[in-house]
Amino acid sequence: MSHIIGIDLGGSKIALGLVSPRDEISARRRIDTESEAGLESVVERIAIEVDALRATLRPEQKLEAVGIGAPGPVDCVSGDLLTLVNLPGISNTPFRRALQERLALPVALDHDAKVAALGEFHYGAGRERESMIYIVMGAGVGAAIIYQGQLIYGESNSAGESGHMTVDPKGHPCHCGSRGCLETYTSGPALAKHYAAATGDKVSGAAVTERALAGDETARALLGKAGCALGIAIASLAMTLNIELFVIGGSVANAGDLLLEAARASLKQYAFKAVSARVKVAASEMGEDAPILGAAWLARDRLIGGF
Ligand SMILES: [Zn+2]
Repeated sequence: MSHIIGIDLGGSKIALGLVSPRDEISARRRIDTESEAGLESVVERIAIEVDALRATLRPEQKLEAVGIGAPGPVDCVSGDLLTLVNLPGISNTPFRRALQERLALPVALDHDAKVAALGEFHYGAGRERESMIYIVMGAGVGAAIIYQGQLIYGESNSAGESGHMTVDPKGHPCHCGSRGCLETYTSGPALAKHYAAATGDKVSGAAVTERALAGDETARALLGKAGCALGIAIASLAMTLNIELFVIGGSVANAGDLLLEAARASLKQYAFKAVSARVKVAASEMGEDAPILGAAWLARDRLIGGF
C-alpha cells in the first residue's frame, strides 16, 4: 500500500500531508519556511517533518514518494527552482535533487499553481470535467491550464503566467515592469496597497477581504474592481482557448461571490455571448488541500506510473 507525501512550499509556510492510497490526507504537519536560512536548512527541516509523517505509518505501509509544489518559476524537468521573488534564500538551487538525496525517496516538483490545479481537477471543482483553467490569487497571481486531462506547459514552460496579462494598459505599474497586470488588482498585496492608499489604514490583503465581507464599502469596491479585472482575463482566456470551467483559488478567493459575481458580470461584457453563456466561474472546493493532494497526484503520476 503506497503512501505519498504532498508538500505545499509557500513563501511563509510549508504544509505537508501524508496521502493514503485512497487519496485521503491521514496526517499533516506545518512549519515556517524560513527560506533565508538557505537550501540545506530548508531541506533538512522538511526531512524532519517527512520522517515524523512516515512514523505514523504501520509496518506494512510504505512511503513511496514525495510531491512538491513551489511558488514561482521552476524547471519542471530538472526540478531546479529558478528566481522566486518570495523565496530568495532558495532561488536558483537544485531543490528537487537535494531533497531527493536527503530523503532517499523519489521526489516530483512543479509550479504550485499547476500542482494545486491538479488537486482541484482530480478531487474538487474540476473532477467531472476534461478541461479547466485554475487561477490562484494570493501573494501573487498565477494560472494553470488543463486541456483534455493534460497540463499545458507551453513551448518554453511559461504557460499560465496569467497574473501578468494586461487588463488595463493605463493601469497601475507592476513589479514585473509592465502596467495594468491582472495581479495589480487581484493579489493580496495589491488589495492591501490600494486599501492603504484609499483609507490610510495599513492592513493585510486577507484583512481587506474580511472587511469587505463585513460590509466595509472601500474594501467591497476594491474586491469589485478585482473581480472586474479577473472577468476581463477570463474573457480573453475563454475566447482564445474555448475552455469552459474556471476555478478560482487562493486567499483572495475567500471573498466568494463578492469577487466572483463581479468577474461573471465583466466576463459577460467582454466575451462573445455564446462563449460567456457556457463558461462557469467557480470557487475552489479543495482550499488548502488542493496543493497537497495535487502534489501527491503529481508524484504518483510521474514517479510510480500513474493510476
Ligand atoms: Zn506584471
